[in-house]
Amino acid sequence: MLQVERLNVAYGALQVIWDVSLAVREGEIVALIGSNGAGKTTLLRTISGLIKPLFGTIRFLGEDITSLPPHDICRRGVIQVPEGRALFPRMRVIENLELGAYLPEARAQRHETLERVYRLFPRLKERWRQDAGTLSGGEQQMVAIGRALMARPKLLMLDEPSLGLAPVLVETMMDVLTQLNAEGMTILLVSQEVHQALAIAHRAYVIENGHIVRSGTSHELRDDDAIRSAYLGL
Ligand code: ATP
Repeated sequence: MLQVERLNVAYGALQVIWDVSLAVREGEIVALIGSNGAGKTTLLRTISGLIKPLFGTIRFLGEDITSLPPHDICRRGVIQVPEGRALFPRMRVIENLELGAYLPEARAQRHETLERVYRLFPRLKERWRQDAGTLSGGEQQMVAIGRALMARPKLLMLDEPSLGLAPVLVETMMDVLTQLNAEGMTILLVSQEVHQALAIAHRAYVIENGHIVRSGTSHELRDDDAIRSAYLGL
């Protein structure tokens, strides 16, 4: 579904992504693992079209999307849940959700999609008229994911969805992603919660200093001594 080939990205003179190649197949959960500053956010933002790469190609459903503007990439079904959620705190939950459905196709289906979001996150149905900024961190993350779902993604990319959440909420978040995937959603997940990410992902890539240093099935990576000591504290 997504194929990234030899991607190189720089901020001015500072190159932060080096020859990164990765693939996400339809129906998979793929995790991207790495420590702070490894380049995970930069990679997602480049796939979303928010940053233009120096070179390399990004293909989605067989088409080259490397030089397309972000709205066009969105329209094709690549939707990112940004780190930090980026909600509109003084707008209601329902208004934040509906903002996700601004493209015509998603708009036409917004009532049905909203029901799906409410089924997944019943708490949001209870709190639909509340300002998003008054919700707990976990609830705000639900709004951010719900808003992305309102855009009817084919590929859902999440940047640290469990950052700052209590352990029990991290587990809930991972359960939600598993459920979405079971319903057919393809997911690219950036996470520093390596244990949990490997528990739900089919495959994973490890990125260090802008280079992919390991990749494999979650099983293989959990058994890899270097990964166990560097990321799993074992
Ligand atoms: P984190 O989990 O801390 O967000 P990350 O793996 O997502 O880390 P990035 O945010 O992609 O990493 O950052 C990769 C590198 O690029 C870092 O060295 C960072 O300092 C640098 N960087 C990120 N954004 C910018 C920017 N706007 N201008 C210059 N350098 C940047």
